[in-house]
Amino acid sequence: MADTDCLFCLIARGEIPADVVHRDDDVVAFRDINPRAPTHILIVPIRHIESAAELTEAEGPLLGRLFAVAAQIARDAGVAEHGYRLVTNSGPAAGQTVPHLHFHLMGGRSMGWPPG
Ligand code: AMP
Ligand code: ZN
Repeated sequence: MADTDCLFCLIARGEIPADVVHRDDDVVAFRDINPRAPTHILIVPIRHIESAAELTEAEGPLLGRLFAVAAQIARDAGVAEHGYRLVTNSGPAAGQTVPHLHFHLMGGRSMGWPPG
């Protein structure tokens, strides 16, 4: 898929509005438009990567940034102490609907396990 057609590439470039809570050279984070928990924020690499299935060791530093940003956002949102879920869906069977890697940070309620 060309970056021009990718929803999260457009949000990452600021070409589609979003409720952005963090932005740096590598990572953007914004509130999910259809929140499934009181806190539901998407942590997204600026660079287009289709899903976790595309990742290699070369993305190690980028993943480090994503997880560090997620941890900071969880603290800022006040969910770190009580606990939260950080999850990525890869492919149709997992329910991935936007084919640009993203981590859902969800908190503010109890989470069932295993996920449906
Ligand atoms: P997934 O189904 O794991 O690919 O997650 C995609 C997520 O993106 C869903 O939770 C959607 O609610 C969310 N989403 C779709 N469009 C937007 C948008 N324009 N702004 C913010 N979140 C969005
Ligand atoms: Zn993209």
